[in-house]
Amino acid sequence: MAYSRSQTVCLTGFQGHPVTVEAHIAKGRPALVVTGLPDIALEQSKVRIFSAFTNSGLEWPDTYTVVNLLPASVRKSGSVCDLAIAAAILAAGYTVPRDRLEGTVLLGELGLDGQLQPVRGVLPCLLAAERAGADTAIVPLRNLAEASLVSRLKCLGANHLSEVVAFLRGEESLSATAPVVPEEPAAELPDMADVVGQETARRGLEVAAAGGHHLFLLGPPGAGKTMLAERLPSILPPLDEAAALETTALHSIAGTLKGTHPRLLRRPPYSAPHHSVTMPAMVGGGTPLRPGAISMAHNGVLFLDECPEARRDVLDALRQPLERGEILISRARSSARFPARIQLVLAANPCPCAASSTESCTCPAPRRHRYLSRLSGPLMDRVDIRIEVAPVPMSAMLSADAVPESSEVIAARVAEARRAARERWSDAEQEWRTNSEVPGPRLRAKPWRLPTSVTKTADWLVETGQLTGRGYDRTLRMAWTLADLAGRDRPDSGDIAEAAGLRVGWLPPS
Ligand SMILES: [Zn+2]
Repeated sequence: MAYSRSQTVCLTGFQGHPVTVEAHIAKGRPALVVTGLPDIALEQSKVRIFSAFTNSGLEWPDTYTVVNLLPASVRKSGSVCDLAIAAAILAAGYTVPRDRLEGTVLLGELGLDGQLQPVRGVLPCLLAAERAGADTAIVPLRNLAEASLVSRLKCLGANHLSEVVAFLRGEESLSATAPVVPEEPAAELPDMADVVGQETARRGLEVAAAGGHHLFLLGPPGAGKTMLAERLPSILPPLDEAAALETTALHSIAGTLKGTHPRLLRRPPYSAPHHSVTMPAMVGGGTPLRPGAISMAHNGVLFLDECPEARRDVLDALRQPLERGEILISRARSSARFPARIQLVLAANPCPCAASSTESCTCPAPRRHRYLSRLSGPLMDRVDIRIEVAPVPMSAMLSADAVPESSEVIAARVAEARRAARERWSDAEQEWRTNSEVPGPRLRAKPWRLPTSVTKTADWLVETGQLTGRGYDRTLRMAWTLADLAGRDRPDSGDIAEAAGLRVGWLPPS
């Protein structure tokens, strides 16, 4: 029987699904029929594959050919399946031996001339193929460096369909090493040593990094809010292996991996969309589906400057990732998830007029009030640390005699505090990595409950209505972070007072 099969992978959001391509060459009028939920890009692959065959000197089966994609339940999208479909047809027509396709996963788009075009998302696709038991992968040569990040797969690269055919016939070998390209020098990360003065904000940033707390910065333009936010990744611990793979895979799908020789991303990413960002650009969208700014900040920092200017629905969309660590994108016929465990930094000017200082703003009070009251509500309630940032006068900058602490020094303290927190909570029934993840009821119960002599400041703020119940729990979490930074095994009343100050440092008007 003229029947064969090959393996490929399709992405639904972040998730790679192994797909089997069946090809059957039957008697009948010449036609190519593709079944099994193909999308439009896949429909077009018929044209690409036919042209690639004829331009590679391969014989097109001049009969009725059926290609079926399994399982039918998985929505197949994109052009990533081209190579696997071509290989299945070739094997069904005895052009290449069928057994050569066993255990091999094929990824790649075909050009009309038979050239193999690089595709996005090779890393998450091959991670899924590896889990499904594949041992070899054939990918476009320009994707080979990225493919090789999947350590347990044998990865081979090809430039042209005819090379793949020669390889499957056992006539030629394929390149197992990506071509050497001169490395771009690594860009230097912005460092905390550049931030002069700003003692409160520096402290807030360190506490945020140590406990995984969300942060809000209020201050006029030029106060240094962006400068502070973009330095948060430099004091966070580097990503572990699993997080590095996830983060790199997301950037692979987004097509933002830099250079032809991508490496695993080890630094927490920083994503700073403009406040005019649209919903799809924020949460993810497009065809095929790409992650949005939120997921580009997965395992790192999402910074939203001038957040009162952002669309209401965009701000509301941040709540789900803050609660669940992922974002669900629902569409008419499908839905997909992207990971989105982020540390949020919001910033705002005190007034829509963007005056350079509070004194130079002459707007009527109701206007400022209306502007900042956009920041009340459930999103703002999830932000632990709220800090007012004032511009540092030039004279103070010039007279500062000591060089501010560098990111390296702060990162060491952050790492130590995180280690203490992880150790404490790993004894708990559920493993929490940072203080910000520990549920409030756990902190208010034995053995973590703090005596009222310690919590008195926070208790008083609740009694006088300056702190909500949720705000109280957030204060407790931050107090644990402050204790971890100071090397104490429990928060004292000073930690509670400082935590409460960070929490109510600035209150949105209600
Ligand atoms: Zn104003």
